[in-house]
Amino acid sequence: MDNTDPSTNTVFSQIPDSDERDVQMAVNAAKQAFVGWSTMPVKKRSDLLLRIAALIEKNLQRFAEAESLDNGKPVWLAKQVDIPRASANFHFYATAALHLAAETHAMENTAINYTLRQPIGIAGCISPWNLPLYLFTWKIAPALASGNCVVAKPSEITPVTAFLLSQFCIEAGLPAGVLNIIHGTGPRVGSAIVSHPDIPVISFTGGTKTGAEISRIAAPMFKKLSLELGGKNPNIIFEDCDFDHAVSTSIKSSFSNQGEICLCGSRIFIQRSIYDKFKEAFISKVKGLKTGDPKDESNFLGAIVSQPHFEKILSYIDIAKQEGGVILTGGKAIQPEGRCKDGFFIEPTVIENLPYNCRTNQEEIFGPVVTLTPFDTEEEVLMMANSTNYGLAATVWTTNLTKAHKVAAALHSGIVWINCWLLRDLRTPFGGVKHRRHRYCSFLCHDGKRRSQKF
Ligand code: NAD
Repeated sequence: MDNTDPSTNTVFSQIPDSDERDVQMAVNAAKQAFVGWSTMPVKKRSDLLLRIAALIEKNLQRFAEAESLDNGKPVWLAKQVDIPRASANFHFYATAALHLAAETHAMENTAINYTLRQPIGIAGCISPWNLPLYLFTWKIAPALASGNCVVAKPSEITPVTAFLLSQFCIEAGLPAGVLNIIHGTGPRVGSAIVSHPDIPVISFTGGTKTGAEISRIAAPMFKKLSLELGGKNPNIIFEDCDFDHAVSTSIKSSFSNQGEICLCGSRIFIQRSIYDKFKEAFISKVKGLKTGDPKDESNFLGAIVSQPHFEKILSYIDIAKQEGGVILTGGKAIQPEGRCKDGFFIEPTVIENLPYNCRTNQEEIFGPVVTLTPFDTEEEVLMMANSTNYGLAATVWTTNLTKAHKVAAALHSGIVWINCWLLRDLRTPFGGVKHRRHRYCSFLCHDGKRRSQKF
């Protein structure tokens, strides 16, 4: 299959269009490797994974350039975020495995119960295109560190760094069959992994629709499933926030990686008393953001990952206009001069005047598009923030400690960042909550009374 550089719209490599026969070969190899790998002394396993971490770090520039070429993101971003985090994933789980402990429960001096944690077998890992190596390794590293073998599929849209990783795993001395990387499409390779009877664990990150399809197949097979799906995250700005910090971080939470991060805050709610001030400061900074050639360090935004995704984002901007949205800045595709003139670029776009429950504010766009919505009270903003099917992440800006914790607890969100964004500690759990339209939430109101509301 052709692999396209989205910043120039040119094909720069081909990848195999694998199918279920390749998955079967990978499963056979993993089965053969499992006994040796799962019984290897943990220190030895850990050392091997640390060697992979070191090789990723040593080849930072090469990995970053490959990630940028494949995905369209700026090289500087891949160097600062994607690749260091991929190395950190191996480092973290390699060392964590050395410190695993289990609880014991003594029964009145008659018996001691203990939990024995053992590798399950072969883990199936399927990842998306937005943070290709970062997310791919976040699945693979813990599975390997705990003694499982892996059959893994990167996104067919961004396969290159997974291919590079496979080369460095061989260089590190990872035994054959322990990690099997298969390139190909979701319907052919992904679904063959999900439905394979000898792969009892599936770790998937990607779209909500794909997650539902994977559940449909894997659930009746009683597989262990981890599904990291979409987001439509609220970014709540209270009037008592540290204003400059809120504005500058909101620029990052809106437009980093072209807005193609599941944790981006695409719905910005601003308390009415500072709405105009925030809007003015935010828009002036957005107008200063440069978009274009991912190799140019001065560009904050690079290319959108593919033509279909580029068209999807532009179609959502049209939907926003039809819904009555007012485009404050951006809203159009960009044709940079020079080598990137045929690439897929979209201006960072800010829209206001939309109801909280319109499509633009409810559906995941996954691009450089955010909306601004004013609010008056905590209750009102919680109702709007919690009104989507998604519950992945949220951001709250306030200097009032009590309010920060109260609002964080009432948000339907797997993660709430208070006065910051995307600070990630691998020791904390990660994941979204809910996929349901109605949920009751009780929260403390200004008058000190607890109320309950259906969202
Ligand atoms: P996608 O669901 O289209 O694809 C993800 C992966 O699944 C790809 O490797 C794809 O080939 C594979 N796939 C597709 N159909 C499949 C099937 N039927 N069976 C098995 N595998 C299949 O998602 P995408 O467009 O690559 O990624 C964007 C989405 O990922 C967004 O919705 C974003 O929010 C989400 N995402 C979530 C997180 C998170 O941690 N929650 C992180 C990053 C991205």
